[in-house]
Parts: sequence; C-alpha cells; structure tokens
Amino acid sequence: MAVKGLGDYDEGNIFAKILRGEIPCKKVFEDAFSLAFHDIAPQAPVHVLVIPRGKYISLADFTAKASDAEIAGFFRAVGTVAKMLELEAPGYRVLANMGEHSGQEIPHFHVHIFGGRPLGRMLSET
Ligand code: 5GP
Repeated sequence: MAVKGLGDYDEGNIFAKILRGEIPCKKVFEDAFSLAFHDIAPQAPVHVLVIPRGKYISLADFTAKASDAEIAGFFRAVGTVAKMLELEAPGYRVLANMGEHSGQEIPHFHVHIFGGRPLGRMLSET
C-alpha cells in the first residue's frame, strides 16, 4: 500500500530494520551516510536501493530536513554505487518514489538504481 511520504518517521519500517541489522540484506556499499543493497524483487537485471542512514520518510522529508553533508554524501553514494556496478558505460536509471501517486511503499527515503538492459521510456502507461 502506498504511503504519504510525510508525517512522523515509523521506526518499524523494513529499511529501518535493515539499517539496525535486524533483518538481512544483500549489501552492495555502505559509508557514513548511506547503505546500498539489492532490491528483494528486482525489476531489471540490476536493481539496487540506496538509503540514507538518517530517519527520513521520503525525498520531500530528506530535502527539507537533512544537512548539506547528508544530502551531498547520499547523492555521491548513488553515483559511486552505479559506477561500482559498472553501469556508467551502458547507462542506468535513478528513481525515487514520493507519496501516494508515486506508489511509494516503504516510508524510509530510498533511491532505486536500475540497469543491465535498455529501460524503455520513463513512465509506464498504467
Ligand atoms: P518503493 O515502492 O517504496 O519506491 O520501493 C520499495 C522497494 O523495496 C520495492 O522495490 C521492494 O521490492 C523493495 N523491498 C521491500 N521489502 C524489501 C526487503 O525486505 N528487502 C529488500 N532488499 N527490498 C525490499
């Protein structure tokens, strides 16, 4: 079910549990600001999620409240992960869902990195 992407942070969300080490993930990268891991239900040959360590519900929340260092560190990590996965030469897509119309399901800000095949146009028709 889609979340609003606004309001109070839910400590029980699945990415909070991954950050606390309470449930496993297939880790790709981590640093002081970010953790990157494979999506559990990949929609492309490469489908990795990058999340900030801070407690932000959505892109709206992150850009409103995170420090400049957190924002810079996070987006640098997104680029680093794509490079590590050798996606730069063929190209890749970065996507962040925010709120109900986007279908955001997990109320902890995350960026999807898709790659490994031509990805078609930007939006599905449905
Ligand atoms: P959203 O729709 O919120 O932008 O994307 C949430 C993503 O999290 C989905 O692509 C979904 O497959 C992924 N996901 C949900 N639960 C888990 C989990 O427990 N582990 C991992 N690695 N990914 C998850």
